[in-house]
Amino acid sequence: MTTRSLPSTARARRAAPIAILLLVLAPAPGAAQGAPTPLPAAGAPLKVLDPAFIDQTANACVDFMQYANGAWLAHDTIPAAYASSGVGRDMGDHNELVVRSVLDDAVAQRASQPAGSTPRKLGTFYATCMDSAAIEREGLAPLRPWLREIDGVTSRARLAPAIAALQIRGINVLFRYSPDVDPHDAAHYMAWLSQAGLGLPDRDYYTKAGPSADSTRQQYVEHVTRVLRLAGGTAAQAARDADRVMRLETELAKASLTRLQLRDPAATDHPMTLGSLASLASSVSWPRYFRSIGLTVPVRRVNVAEPEFVRRVGTLLRTAPLEQWRAYLRYHAVAESAPWLSTPFVREDFAFRSRFTGAKELLPRWKRCLRETDGDLGEALGQAYVAKTFPPEAKARAQAVIDDIRAAFAERLRHLSWMSDSTRAQALDKLAKMREKVGYPDRWRDYSRLLTEEGPFILNVARANAFEWQRVVNRPGAAVDTTEWGITVPTVNAYYDPSRNEMVFPAGALVPQTFDASADDGANYGSLGGSWAGHELTHGFDDEGRHYDAAGNLRDWWTAADSVHFNQAADIVARQFDGYLQVDTFHVNGRLTLGENIADFGGLLTGYDALEQALRRDGRPGLIDGYTPEQRFFISYAQSWRVHNRPERLRTRVTVDPHAPEQWRVNGPLSNIPAFAEAFGCKPGDPMVRSADSIPHIW
Ligand SMILES: [Zn+2]
Repeated sequence: MTTRSLPSTARARRAAPIAILLLVLAPAPGAAQGAPTPLPAAGAPLKVLDPAFIDQTANACVDFMQYANGAWLAHDTIPAAYASSGVGRDMGDHNELVVRSVLDDAVAQRASQPAGSTPRKLGTFYATCMDSAAIEREGLAPLRPWLREIDGVTSRARLAPAIAALQIRGINVLFRYSPDVDPHDAAHYMAWLSQAGLGLPDRDYYTKAGPSADSTRQQYVEHVTRVLRLAGGTAAQAARDADRVMRLETELAKASLTRLQLRDPAATDHPMTLGSLASLASSVSWPRYFRSIGLTVPVRRVNVAEPEFVRRVGTLLRTAPLEQWRAYLRYHAVAESAPWLSTPFVREDFAFRSRFTGAKELLPRWKRCLRETDGDLGEALGQAYVAKTFPPEAKARAQAVIDDIRAAFAERLRHLSWMSDSTRAQALDKLAKMREKVGYPDRWRDYSRLLTEEGPFILNVARANAFEWQRVVNRPGAAVDTTEWGITVPTVNAYYDPSRNEMVFPAGALVPQTFDASADDGANYGSLGGSWAGHELTHGFDDEGRHYDAAGNLRDWWTAADSVHFNQAADIVARQFDGYLQVDTFHVNGRLTLGENIADFGGLLTGYDALEQALRRDGRPGLIDGYTPEQRFFISYAQSWRVHNRPERLRTRVTVDPHAPEQWRVNGPLSNIPAFAEAFGCKPGDPMVRSADSIPHIW
C-alpha cells in the first residue's frame, strides 16, 4: 500500500489512526513579526488556497515552499503534544471534532441501545477508554493472565502457542501472519509470513554505527528495563532481561530486510509449499502454529516474504534460551499495552516514543481514545461521520476532478515519445481498469462478532484485535474482497494498492484544504488534482507499481527498452533528491523516496494538464486574489504540503519514511516543470529552474 503521507507503522495491515502524518487548526498567531497580512484566527474555516499564508517578501523562483507558506510558518508554533503542525493537523482536528460528537452521542445513548448492537459497542469501547479512574485502579491487573501464560513457557513446545496467543491479541511479536493478495493470482488471498517483532522503529536502529545510534540503543535498553520493572521485576532481573530482549531483537534486525530492499516487489515474492517452509524453519511445527492462530482452512502454499528472516527465526526458536524468549514476550506484551494502562505505564511509553517525534506532552485523553476507537471500530464511526459531513454532492464533485485526472493521464500516456506501442497499450489498459474508491465504502463492516465489555479497556482493545484476526484469518484461498477499505473514513490520507490496482480517497481527506466545490479550478486541481489524485494514480506507474499489471498480478509487461528508459529516468530523480538536505547533516535518501517523488512529479504534470483542459472547457476566469489560474494551481499544490516539523521527527523520517520532507516534495518536482517557471517568470539559473538536461522524462 503506497500512501500519500507517513502511515502508521505499528499496524501496517490494520486501519490507521486519524491524522496519520500531519496532525488542527492553526493556533492563534504568536509574537507578531510583522507579517504582511493578518493570519486567520484559530477555528477559521479551512481553504484550498489561503493567500494569507504567502510570504510576499520571498522569491518564488528561489524557494517556492517559503513563498507559498512562509507567512504561515513565521507565526506557527508546533503545539507541545505534536510532532508537527500544518495541513494534516488542521484537517485532522476538523475531523476529530466531528468524530468526537459521534462518540459523545454514542456514550450518552449507550444504555438505551440494545445489548450487542454496534452503537452500544462503540459507546462502550470509547467510554471504557475514557474511564481513567478505573484504569488507574486496575494498574497491571488486566495483563496478569497474559504474564502467567508467558511465565508458563518452560519448554520449547509451549513457545509457539504463547507467540500465537499474543499475535491474536494484536501484540507484535516475532513475525506477522497475514492473509493477503496472492502476488501471482490477485483475485485470491494467500497466507503471508513477514518480518516483524522489533521494538525500535526500524531494523537500522539496531545495526547502525555511531554515537547517536549507540545512544538510542542504550536508551532503548533503559526503557525496556523500566517497563519490566513496572511489570513487577526486581531491578537486577529487569536489567538482565532488558539485555536479553536487546540481544534477541538485534538478531531479528540483522536478519530483516531494509526498507529500501522491501521496495522491490521481487524481494518479497517467495511462494512456497508447506514442505519448503518446514525445511526453512524446521524447529517450528507449522501445522500446529496455524491451528493455534485459528486457521481452519487447508493451507498448501505460503508466501514467505523474507525467507532468510524466517530461517533465522527457526534457529532462534531452537537455540535462544527460554528465559530470553520469556523476557522478549513479557516486554512486548506490556510495552504495547502501556498506552492503555495506568499513568506510570503511559508516561514511560510516551517518554520513549517522544524521542522519535519530539512531542513534549501527551495528547489529551479524548484524542488518544478517539484515535484508538477509529483504529478498532473505524467503519462503525465512519457511517456516522459521513452522515454528518459528506453529502452525496461532495462525493460527486470530488469524483469529477478525479475522473479529469484519469483522462489527463491517459492523454499523457498516448503522447509519451519514449514508450513503445506495446507497453503503452498495457499501460492504458491498467489505467482503464484502475478502481477508485471515493468517500466511504459501498458496504460497511459487520461488527456483530465483536465483543466489548464494561472494562478493563485494554481487554476491549485485545478483543477488537482478536475480532479483526478472526475476520481475516481464514481467507487463504478465498476470493479477494474488492469492496474492502484499508483506511478509515475520517482519515486524512489516501493510498494506491498495486495488488488491487485501486486508489482510495476517504471522506476525511476530501475536506476544504484538499478540495472545495466552491473554489476555483486552479486551486482545486493543484490540491485534489495534483497533490492527491494525480499522486495516487501515478503510484500505479512508479518504480514499484509498474511491476504489477492491470489485474494486480506481479508480472513484467514492459518491453526491455522501455524498462531501460524508465530506470534511467528514475535514476535522475533519485540523484536529484539525494542532493537535498533533510535535517542536520542527513540528506534525503533518493532511493527510499523514489516512488513518492515519481508520484509527486507525475501528479503535478497530470494535474496541470487537467487544469488546462478544464479552463478550455469551462472558460478562463480573471485573476483571483491577484493570481492567474496557473499560479493558483502551483500555490495550492505547495499549500497542500504546508507542514512545520520538529527536528526529531525529521531525523526519524530519514530512516523510516519513504516520503521526502515536504519542502522538497514542493521544490523538487516544481523545479523540473517548465510551466511552473513560465507561470512565475523564473529564468534559467534560478534555483527553482533545473537545466533541461537534468530533467527526468517519465510521465
Ligand atoms: Zn504516495
